[in-house]
This record gives sequence, C-alpha cells and structure tokens, in this order.
Amino acid sequence: MSGPVEPAVEVRDVHRVFSTNRGAVTALEAASLSVAPGEFVSLIGPSGCGKSTLLRLIADLDEPTSGTISVFGRTARQARKEQAYGIAFQQAGLLPWRSVRANIELPLQLHGAAAPARGRRVDELLDMVGLAEFADSFPDQLSGGMQQRVAIARSLAESPRLLLMDEPFGALDEMTRERMQNELVRICADTGAAVVFVTHSIPEAVFLSDRVFVMSARPGRIKDVLPIRLGAAEERGENLREETAFYAAITAVRESLHGTGVATLRGVETR
Ligand code: ADP
Ligand code: MG
Repeated sequence: MSGPVEPAVEVRDVHRVFSTNRGAVTALEAASLSVAPGEFVSLIGPSGCGKSTLLRLIADLDEPTSGTISVFGRTARQARKEQAYGIAFQQAGLLPWRSVRANIELPLQLHGAAAPARGRRVDELLDMVGLAEFADSFPDQLSGGMQQRVAIARSLAESPRLLLMDEPFGALDEMTRERMQNELVRICADTGAAVVFVTHSIPEAVFLSDRVFVMSARPGRIKDVLPIRLGAAEERGENLREETAFYAAITAVRESLHGTGVATLRGVETR
C-alpha cells in the first residue's frame, strides 16, 4: 500500500467539560493523540485525570465539548456503527445466563454471522485465550482472570483493528494480571490490532506499550508522551520484567507522572 497510513485513532485538541450541580468540571483539556495501526498506546495518570473520559469519547459513548476525533479516518460515530473496534472494561460484563461460548459468540450473533462460521470463530478465540475446556461453563464457575479472558475473547470476536481497554486487569491479582499482560502482548502481535489501554499501573503500561501518554489531573491533560522501546511484541517475554531497561522505563514514567527529571530519560532503548 502506498500513500500516508491512516491513523487508527486521531484525537485533535479535544476538550470535555461536564456541567455539574457544583459548576463546570473540565475533565479533559486540549487532548491530542494519534495512534498508528498496530500500535499499543497506554493512558496513565492519577484517578480522575480523564483517562476514561478520553476512551469513552473515542468509543463514541460520549461527545467532546470541542475538538475532533477520528477512528480509521471516520468519525467516532461512524466507526461505532461499523464496529471498527472491540471494547473491554474493568468489569468483564459477561451475561451470567449464557455459557462462555455463548458470551463470546454474542457480537457475531447480533451482527448476523451464520451459525457454522460463528462456531469456528468461537473455537479459534477459545484457543487463543486458553479456555477451550471451559466453553460450556458459565461465568460464575470461572475465576476473575478467566472471566476477563472471556471478555477479551468477546472483544476480539470480529477481528477489530482497534481495541479500547479501560483498566481491564484492574480487578485481578498481581500474578494473574501479569499473565494476562503476557497474553495480551501475544494476542496483539497475532492480530495486529492497535490498542488504547487505560491503566494506573506504571509497570503494566511499560510492559505493554509502544508509547505511554502521561496525564495530569485538574484539568485533565496529556502532559507527556514517552516512547518505550522494549523490543517487538514477540520478544517481550516474562524475563523482560527482570531487565534493567524495564526498570529504567518504569523510572522514566514515574518521574514524568511526578514531574521530575523527565528530559533526561526519554525513549529508553534496549535492543
Ligand atoms: P479517570 O478515568 O482518569 O479516573 P474520569 O475520566 O472518569 O477519570 O473522570 C475525569 C473527571 O471528570 C473527574 O473529575 C470526574 O469526576 C469527571 N466526570 C467524569 N464523568 C462525568 C460525568 N458524566 N459528569 C460529571 N463529571 C464527570
Ligand atoms: Mg477511569
């Protein structure tokens, strides 16, 4: 393909002001970001800095007060109608009366895919998230980590080129969380999906991301963008967490969050 590559997400000078009974709250001020196809971007910052607001705007679950948003060159509204992305939030949000298989199948069913094709796709997804044996289980028979894997499988059902994830591992214990991060890196490498990932965990953002957008609260702003170059997804294994470069990148993000020593630690590189 020739010509300029269309960004997966383009946010330009977006403001979001909420009017509340205690006056106007500027949740987001002059936010701009561009996410390339296949790129993994994290939004990190303290509670209330506007991370969820920004993600909801991209997903067209809310509208900006001013500024523009496009998803693969379309408006956020068009992109939502065309189901150009998958969404996973902190709560797995599974339907308790449907089996694992039926939960993953739901978006395909809603959008009219034929039964045999649906079945094949669900089998593929169950393998991808390592839950083939649990296809006929129900959500309340699964651990939190397994439920979250079902939710991720569901968000991947229609092979989206973009995933929007809001603290999807926030409710998990530390070990499960790291395993899910490893899986997400692998899944993204396999599918080539771009990801906008909200977290308040620095190690999580560093492990997963190509770039980390650091936000500050009141008013919510993107105050820094840190390129994290810790190797291609395929080579980012469990031992990365022990490497000096991993700690250096964590330090860079932490210093940016706390507003000290940022300039010296841009673009940590290893390989
Ligand atoms: P984060 O996800 O980073 O914790 P949010 O995006 O949820 O932060 O919220 C950013 C700010 O906007 C907070 O001050 C929050 O109280 C406010 N806010 C978010 N949604 C609404 C809403 N629907 N009405 C009023 N204020 C809101
Ligand atoms: Mg939030």
